[in-house]
Amino acid sequence: MSLIDQVREAGIVGAGGAGFPAHVKLDAKCEYLIANGAECEPLLRSDRRIMEKNAPEIVEALVAAAEYTGAKRAFVATKSHYEKAVEALKKAAAGTGIELHLMKSTYPSGDEQTLVYDITGRVVPTGGLPLDVGAVVSNVATLVNVAAAMKGKPVTEKTLTVSGAVKNPVTLEVPIGTPIGALIEAAGGFESGDAGDYEILLGGPLMGFPAAGLDEPVTKTTGGVLPLPKGHKILGYKHVDIGRQSKLAKAVCCQCSMCTQLCPRAALGLGVEPHKAMRALSAEQGKLLGKFNGIFSCCDCGLCTYFACNFGLSPSAVMGSFKKALMGQGVKPKKETAGRADPALGGKKVPSARLLSRLSLAKYDRDAPLVPFTVKVSRVRIPLKMHIGAPCKPLVERGASVQKGAVIALPPKLDTGARQLGAVIHASINGTIGEVSSEYIEIRAEA
Ligand code: SF4
Ligand code: SF4
Repeated sequence: MSLIDQVREAGIVGAGGAGFPAHVKLDAKCEYLIANGAECEPLLRSDRRIMEKNAPEIVEALVAAAEYTGAKRAFVATKSHYEKAVEALKKAAAGTGIELHLMKSTYPSGDEQTLVYDITGRVVPTGGLPLDVGAVVSNVATLVNVAAAMKGKPVTEKTLTVSGAVKNPVTLEVPIGTPIGALIEAAGGFESGDAGDYEILLGGPLMGFPAAGLDEPVTKTTGGVLPLPKGHKILGYKHVDIGRQSKLAKAVCCQCSMCTQLCPRAALGLGVEPHKAMRALSAEQGKLLGKFNGIFSCCDCGLCTYFACNFGLSPSAVMGSFKKALMGQGVKPKKETAGRADPALGGKKVPSARLLSRLSLAKYDRDAPLVPFTVKVSRVRIPLKMHIGAPCKPLVERGASVQKGAVIALPPKLDTGARQLGAVIHASINGTIGEVSSEYIEIRAEA
């Protein structure tokens, strides 16, 4: 079986992003192959722990992927202060030709476009992919899954960090579908009080989003679980009302353009101009957006909001709402690079420590060791859409008995008989199928 077939059958999606199916991404010819271990989001530790523990698997998968894609150079990109991980990678990569790309601790160092530019000197165009400039980027966790797939093991677990306002921050490997409440329990519970005192972010503090509740399940792309006390500064930025933002923009946006000057995608010459989005919003005149194609290159990193704007405005949310509106009108991004990368780009990177301090998050910047997950869960709820593409169709019915690793849902078929873009879903525990809905499959654990 080819590498791509093994990856497809294992149901692998990009573990560090939006869940792009890995068998589609890796089925390419490229010059550069990049394993992304930059761990973009401060407070998260999962990529670091994965590289410390699984460096040989990362290298094994990179070597196989380089052979398949014909890549001339293959890199593992990570932060230089991840000393243990760097040592493990150096040892595993010795004699393989795999190179290490070491970075400072800045945000957003793991941004795919920024990483591709740092390594290749090439800019991924708006509306394009790294492959347009000869590169394929895969998260280190995805590559560990690829190495497992080469031995016939599907994706049934997710490694993620539980940090923020918990007693003992930890990194855990848990079955897909585990309720996040069980993860907070494994981290010793909330630092004080009870669940009602906290809001929980899924992912990192900057690009993460609020969870619906303690029952929300872990998916193939969940990067972290971060409870924060209600009223914490950063949570206010997660619930932006665009109507109110328009009034605030009218009142206080002075068009200083700091948001654009510090935007990492603008620095790549991609025409991302959040100050113009604020101008258009406050004047209620779409034409003030100027050349709007750059909006599609906004990666939602939030730096314009969390760091650049001194008036507490949320240009990132405004960019997001314009992007959504354009897509709603059927506007597609044009594949183009608006200008040249800023030669001073390196100096514009924001040290993660400064960002954490600005956001009153420095106290949560704690170690999160990898520990066994010992909390007993009575059920998991596995979402049918954990990937870009069509939701999967269940293959199982209530009452059926399943073993961990069994295929329980597949992407739907097209008229041609081929399957739509998506990723196979496997049972993450042994048990009995409970509820099967259009959104998830429940598995009740064996007693
Ligand atoms: S949103 Fe903030 S940083 Fe951007 S132009 Fe307005 S005041 Fe300046
Ligand atoms: S969120 Fe702001 S800083 Fe980040 S890419 Fe978008 S406009 Fe630029």
